[in-house]
Order: sequence, then C-alpha cells, then structure tokens
Amino acid sequence: MDAPPTTSSRAGADRRQPADVAIVGVGALGCAAAEALARAAVGRLVLFDGDVVERSNLHRQLLHRDADRGRPKVDSAAERLTMVYPAAAVERRYVRIDAVNAGSLLAGAACIVDATDGFESKFLLNDTAVALGVPLVHAGIMRFLGQLMTIVPGQSACYRCIFVAPPEPGDVPSCQEAGVLGSLAGTIGLLQAAEVIRYLTGAGPLLTDRLLTYDALMNRFRSVRLRRNPSCPVCAPRLAGTTRNR
Ligand SMILES: [Zn+2]
Repeated sequence: MDAPPTTSSRAGADRRQPADVAIVGVGALGCAAAEALARAAVGRLVLFDGDVVERSNLHRQLLHRDADRGRPKVDSAAERLTMVYPAAAVERRYVRIDAVNAGSLLAGAACIVDATDGFESKFLLNDTAVALGVPLVHAGIMRFLGQLMTIVPGQSACYRCIFVAPPEPGDVPSCQEAGVLGSLAGTIGLLQAAEVIRYLTGAGPLLTDRLLTYDALMNRFRSVRLRRNPSCPVCAPRLAGTTRNR
C-alpha cells in the first residue's frame, strides 16, 4: 500500500496563493463550508450553483434568508459572506455543473468541495477531480446521516472505488426528497471546511482512505478504513500511470 499523503506532498498547495477553492453547491453543506472558509481567509472562494433559493431550503441553508427567495443561491451566499467578512474574496458562478462543463469550470482549482445533493453530481465531481488531478473533499447527508472523505488523485481511494456507480434513478431519494436534519448539514459542512484548511496548510493528516460517518440520531461518529479498487474505472488507470512514471 502506498504511503498516505504527506505534508511535503501538499507543500505545492501552499505556494498557490491565493488558493481557489471551488465550492460546488451552496445549499446546506456549501453554506456551512463557505462561511467557515471565508472567515478563515483561505484565498478565493468560487461558488457554483444553478438553483434559486426556496422557502424549503431555509432550515438548513444558513447563508440564505426568506427575503432571498427566488434569487440565485450564489448571489445571496456571496452577499452574505461579504457582509460577514468583507475581506473575503468570493466569486459566483450561476451555473449547474454537468458532464459538459465540469472540466473547464473546475480546472485550476486548488481543491474542490463537493457540497452537491444527488448521486449523479457526486460521481461527476469525483471523476472530474481525478481527471484534473485536483483534490476533492466529498460529503453527503440524508436524514440523520452524514459522511465525509477526501480524495487525493493518484494517492488515495476515490469515491468510485467505494461506491462504483450511482443508484438507478428513483431507487434512493435525494436529500431534498428524504429530508435532512439542518444541524447535521452544518456539522458536516464545517468538517469539510476543516479538511480544506488541513489540505491547504499541510497541517495534520487528511481523511484519505477513510470514510467518516456521523449518525446525528444516535450521536455517533465512525471512521471506516477504505481501500483503493485496483480495477476502479476512474482512478486505476491514473494510478498505473503514476507508478510507471516513478
Ligand atoms: Zn477509484
């Protein structure tokens, strides 16, 4: 098994100042992660979201207010972040990331925060991050359950190593359909922000080759060890190439 990412292997990120942190989705996870990262002044935040604020969002999407209903989420989030921390560098992209535009929109980011709702988006972000060689901080939430893992392309297991393929449409409800505990979203989003800060600063180990789960109903955290899939259709070819180049 390869060694986990080391501080020195992340030193390149330190020199990329200001860092561009791409936050994909400014819903429940993205609001929490973005506010923490803005206050930490990690560099430039680039917010991506193609949705508008709805009343049903407000219990868990902490940057949006009732008066923002109907506005693009990136607009209300960016304005709130700038109000909270005027020195924050925030860019907004009112766009839904898809298979056509993901590569060009996310290229050049120092890291990507997966704050999306929906399996298709999570697989797309994983595949794009691996292809670009950009670290991805994945998270997912539903009802009382949250999960978190970090993917460092070429070094650690990717999302598709573990979950292989999205469920068939309709088999598993989305967070929007199933509901989620608002405070759980905040917890997991803040953990994503801490993971980004660890990556950018090189301080502390990353949550690579591990899946952290949090059951907010039973108040229980667990950390499950993961292994790369040597037959992973996304990262196995890259790993093989990395080995050959050494
Ligand atoms: Zn993989």
